[in-house]
Amino acid sequence: MAKRVYVFGGGKSEGKADMKNLLGGKGANLAEMSNLGIPVPAGFTITAEVCNEYYENKKNFPSGLEDEMNKALKKVEKIMGAEFDNPDNPLLLSVRSGARVSMPGMMDTVLNLGLNDTTVKGIIAKSGNERFGWDSYRRFIQMYGDVVMEMKPENKEDIDPFEEVMDKLKEEKGVKEDLELTVDDLKELVARFKAMIKEKLGVEFPTDPKEQLWGAIGAVFGSWDNERAVLYRKMNGFEDSWGTAVNVQAMVFGNMGEDCATGVAFTRDPATGENVFYGEYLINAQGEDVVAGIRTPQQVTIEGSQRWAKDNGVSEEDRKANFTSLEEVMPKVYKTLADTYKKLEKHYKDMQDIEFTIQNEKLWMLQTRSGKRTAAAAVNIAVDMVKEKLIDKKTALLRIEPDSLDQLLHPTFDPNVEKKSIAKGLPASPGAATGKVVFHADEADEWNNRGEKVILVRIETSPEDLKGMSAAEGILTQRGGQTSHAAVVARGMGKCCVSGCGSLEIDYSAKTLKIGNNLIKEGDFISLDGSTGDVMLGKVDTIDAELSGNFGTIMEWADEFRRLDIRTNADSPHDAEVARGFGAQGIGLCRTEHMFFEGDRIKAVREMILAEDVEGRKKALTKLLPIQRGDFYGILKAMEGFGVTIRLLDPPLHEFVPHEDAAQEDMAKELGISVEEVKAKVESLHEFNPMLGHRGCRLGVTYPEITEMQARAIFEAACDLKKEGVDAKPEVMVPLVGTVNELAMQKGIIVETAEKVMEEKGIKVEYLVGTMIEIPRAALTADVIATEAEFFSFGTNDLTQMTFGYSRDDSGSFLPEYVDKKILAADPFAVLDREGVGQLVKMGVEKGRSTKKDLKVGICGEHGGEPSSIEFCHMVGLNYVSCSPFRVPIARLAAAQAALNNK
Ligand code: PEP
Ligand code: MG
Repeated sequence: MAKRVYVFGGGKSEGKADMKNLLGGKGANLAEMSNLGIPVPAGFTITAEVCNEYYENKKNFPSGLEDEMNKALKKVEKIMGAEFDNPDNPLLLSVRSGARVSMPGMMDTVLNLGLNDTTVKGIIAKSGNERFGWDSYRRFIQMYGDVVMEMKPENKEDIDPFEEVMDKLKEEKGVKEDLELTVDDLKELVARFKAMIKEKLGVEFPTDPKEQLWGAIGAVFGSWDNERAVLYRKMNGFEDSWGTAVNVQAMVFGNMGEDCATGVAFTRDPATGENVFYGEYLINAQGEDVVAGIRTPQQVTIEGSQRWAKDNGVSEEDRKANFTSLEEVMPKVYKTLADTYKKLEKHYKDMQDIEFTIQNEKLWMLQTRSGKRTAAAAVNIAVDMVKEKLIDKKTALLRIEPDSLDQLLHPTFDPNVEKKSIAKGLPASPGAATGKVVFHADEADEWNNRGEKVILVRIETSPEDLKGMSAAEGILTQRGGQTSHAAVVARGMGKCCVSGCGSLEIDYSAKTLKIGNNLIKEGDFISLDGSTGDVMLGKVDTIDAELSGNFGTIMEWADEFRRLDIRTNADSPHDAEVARGFGAQGIGLCRTEHMFFEGDRIKAVREMILAEDVEGRKKALTKLLPIQRGDFYGILKAMEGFGVTIRLLDPPLHEFVPHEDAAQEDMAKELGISVEEVKAKVESLHEFNPMLGHRGCRLGVTYPEITEMQARAIFEAACDLKKEGVDAKPEVMVPLVGTVNELAMQKGIIVETAEKVMEEKGIKVEYLVGTMIEIPRAALTADVIATEAEFFSFGTNDLTQMTFGYSRDDSGSFLPEYVDKKILAADPFAVLDREGVGQLVKMGVEKGRSTKKDLKVGICGEHGGEPSSIEFCHMVGLNYVSCSPFRVPIARLAAAQAALNNK
């Protein structure tokens, strides 16, 4: 039988850091820290496998677990010199979840476990602190009642039932703060909490510590399947089958007096990546107080504290008196903490997120893990650590999530636009956000679903708000520090967040937010700057991001390792320039039809569509020719020296004609024909399944003059540029080819036109003629198609549509459910389906190259900018991927990672 319980503490452990899948991240790292000789309270980890057994057993613990656990508990008791359920020398325990990946705040925790009416006396005798004993006891009942016995508020507007009891007692006693409650008040509170539980649930609060322990372990396993944890896993692509481990650990107390404290820290600044120890702590508090944002925590270091004071307009005097750093308050403990964090960072070779507690001036480490960070911090830390010789370039590249770079490419507020900051909070997660104010997570979600951009405003956030946070553009909270739930979660999501903005007065029931004299109602616009912490009234304009510094270094390193070229999908000179700035090496797809809608050129397009015969069409095409030539001129010039793949007209023609009466009347007037004629034409263009209808090269087959005009426009532009000394490299691409004959016919027109134009212009340009592979038949016959094609580009949007038989237009109505029900692992239009569509891609490459050994092959479907699909493209030997301009940096990094992971 597999070992189910692993003990740690006292300078040794049964587990270690690489056992995360079994012991969870927290458990594995506690074991590792103990092995490193770092003081951690002793404890044991029940493996994640037991979680699965628990569910398989209809939520019953497997037999044998009790025995193993009792033995482990004995060892813990020995190391800690205290005994569970011993009234004279009681050991109290914490029970926490710990999955293989961090899921902050998603699952449950119970602290101070083991307290009852007798052990509380033992704790009081041991600590010599009666208030502490009773306060711990009331906290335990509160937490156990909430987590294990599920005494929670019934509605979102209701307050917590325990808070309600406590507020009532405070009112009776005429006090405001928890700390003003006397020992007798706390005793009374314990009695009232128990009575409330009895009254509402009809059961007694459990007094037997063992019963409490099993209850808590069951609740932690149970929390693996709570709604928010399930949602979090879905959002992050984590498997349900991983399960969570449970860590049962001796309690140490940060709230036993003024020589106690608790804190959380990052070994580097998680927002910027700056190499400074960044932490927050509270004297005389329990761990949850720091993250819950109930008291705003103080800075660990003097430097951090001074910076904080400056940002918040606090004088040095005031700071020293009221907001002192841990470094000043407990210099010795601080020194141990600093030595410990350095040891941990060196050992793990990564920025760590640590939790610590100080009990009677002794430091205990409760957790270490790789710290979540913004994309900017990830980039800066990776580059710095290479410079510090802690890691090599390859490790640095593999540390950065390609998709997260999106955060750095997001717009920021235009510095030239007047901004009036009406409040300032902590810059918790960078970026700029503008949206309508909403106060509840469900509303954020609802509003977002109907297309509104919202800012979620909360006193503080909790894991229940996850869905709303994910739906919002930005998050603003009144309470909480940089390590509060709102800050940590927003950073993970790459969302702009301003936290701890004390000047907000939020009224949930009136749905209003007061800041000074400004009354902001639900639905009013506000803007947040997550990089400065500013809150602004109304909408504020934004500007595009720019790459620089360490970002550039990472991109250069990525370029050293990647084998794939990165091109861009761009239809205008502006987009081409933006993409080139991001490092694009050519255009992989220029959709010529996107140019048709600009200005009044749509008129000529419609004239061409309405023409009765070839003559009429040619007349209209003559008007389009110079326009298209101009477009191609601009684009080829912007991409000078790089290949530019220009695709011939692709969409069904009905997309260019109006379908509403008024617009049809306008069109009739514009073209000087009757409305009836317009209507008749629109009618004739109707197709039941236009995506599979008269589009792509089928248009060029039936209207060869369109192909001819487009080819002429391309080659005239290229010849003109060549004469000007610009190295234009056109690659003409025929879309939606299913048989080689379609391609041969189109190629005939293209080549003939090219030759004619070059002769007219008296200059030669190099060019290629190739095709898209986006119909399954093209992939199946790629060897034959390659006899005519000089390059292939996989149109995986259409190829996915046709391989699955899912229409691109309306698969949205059922695909999300397919993913929910795990029929598909991911939306195949977003992430390339390696198993099916991927086989066609692989076959297409192999067959194509069996005919032409050096055939150039790329991809220009949406998948070309998606990291997992890029990896697949690398694996099957494509030459390049092409993606939208803003995804070019993401693709550069993803391509490097693909090369590093697939040697
Ligand atoms: C494709 O089908 O993948 C493609 C790039 O073309 P479009 O999306 O324009 O059909
Ligand atoms: Mg296509």
